[in-house]
Amino acid sequence: MQNHAKRPSARPLAAKLAMSLALGLMTAQACLAAAPAAPAPAAPAPVKAPAMPHSTPVAPAAAPAAAPAPQVDVPAADPNEAIRKAIADRISGKGEVVLKATGAEAKAAPKKSAHKKHTVHWAYEGEGGPHNWGKISKQYLACANGKNQSPIAIEPSVSLGLDLPALEFDYRNSRFSIIDNGHTVEVKYLDGGAMNILGHRYELVQFHFHRPAEEVVNGKRYDMVAHLVHRSSQGKLAVVAVLLTLGEENPFIQTLWNHMPIQKKQAITPPTASIDLAKFLPANKAYFHYMGSLTTPPCTEGVAWYVMQSPVEVSAQQVEVFSKIYANNARPTQRVHDRLVKASRAPADLYAKPAPTQVAAPRIPRAGGAQ
Ligand SMILES: [Zn+2]
Repeated sequence: MQNHAKRPSARPLAAKLAMSLALGLMTAQACLAAAPAAPAPAAPAPVKAPAMPHSTPVAPAAAPAAAPAPQVDVPAADPNEAIRKAIADRISGKGEVVLKATGAEAKAAPKKSAHKKHTVHWAYEGEGGPHNWGKISKQYLACANGKNQSPIAIEPSVSLGLDLPALEFDYRNSRFSIIDNGHTVEVKYLDGGAMNILGHRYELVQFHFHRPAEEVVNGKRYDMVAHLVHRSSQGKLAVVAVLLTLGEENPFIQTLWNHMPIQKKQAITPPTASIDLAKFLPANKAYFHYMGSLTTPPCTEGVAWYVMQSPVEVSAQQVEVFSKIYANNARPTQRVHDRLVKASRAPADLYAKPAPTQVAAPRIPRAGGAQ
C-alpha cells in the first residue's frame, strides 16, 4: 500500500541479513497466503476489522489496519531496523486475526496459536459467526460436529402428540440483577426459582433473550424468545423457551428494560424493582420437548428443551429497544437428524384443571399442519 518505492542497495552483508530475517518473517506469515513475492504491498487482505459487534472496545477497526503494511514492504532506510520492527509488531500482537493456523505457522510461532484462540471471539456474524464457531476452539467442536444441536425448526405435524407431564414452575416475586454480557441481556433471579418435572427439580440459573427467536415453530420465527436456563443438582440442564410475539406491551419485559445496563459486562441490581417469572409465562403451558444443546459456544449437548407452544406478547417498541443492543443474536436452526420431538397434544388448561373440560380438538392434530 504505502512505501516500497525504493530498495536501498545496502551493503551485501546487511542485505543478506535482511533477506534471512525477511524469510523468517514470511514463514511466520505463511497463512497470510498469496503475495509470496513481497511486492504485493496492497496485501490488505489480512486487514480485517473484526466484525464482532460485541467484542470489547479493543478493536477500533482502523488500528489493526495499519500494522500489516510495514511487514510486507521492504524497508527504506535501515533494512535490519525495519525488519526488526516488523517482527516486533507481529509478536506484540498487532497482527491480524486468523481462524486457523497452518502447519507452517504453528511451527513458526507456537506461542501465538494460544493467543489467537482468545482474539477471535464468537459472535453472530462475520468471522466469529455461527458457521465458524466449531473452528474457533477445540472446546467448541460440538458446535460443528454435534448431532443434537439447538435450536431446531419444530414441525408440529411430525412431532409426537402426547399427554406430557406438566412443567411445575416454582417462581415467585423476586429482585433481580441484569447484565449485558456481550452476547445477550441476561437476568439473574436473586431469590431463586425452580421448575419441577416428574419429580425432578431444576433450579433457575438465569434467563436471557434472543432476537429473533432461535426456534422456528411450524415455519414461523417469532420476534424474540426468552430462554429460562435451569440446572438440576446433578448438573443437568433444562431450558424453557418462551416465545415473544408482537402485541401488547409486556410489563415484565418493561421492568427489565427500564433497568437496562448502559455498559456491557456490568451487572445492575435495582434496589427496589422486582419481577415475577410466573406472570411472564404463557397461561397455556403446553410445550414441545426435545433433547438439544446450548445455542452458544461451547454448544454443549444433553440439554433438555421445553419450548412453550403459546407465545406471550411484547410491544414493537420493546422489541425495538432490544434491537438497538442486539439486532441479531440468534443461532441458525440446526439439523434435527434422528431426534424425536414431543408435543403436548392438548391445551395446557388440561393440566391446570384436574377435571378436563370440553376443550376443542387437540391443538396439535396427529396429522396435518394445524397449529
Ligand atoms: Zn439462549
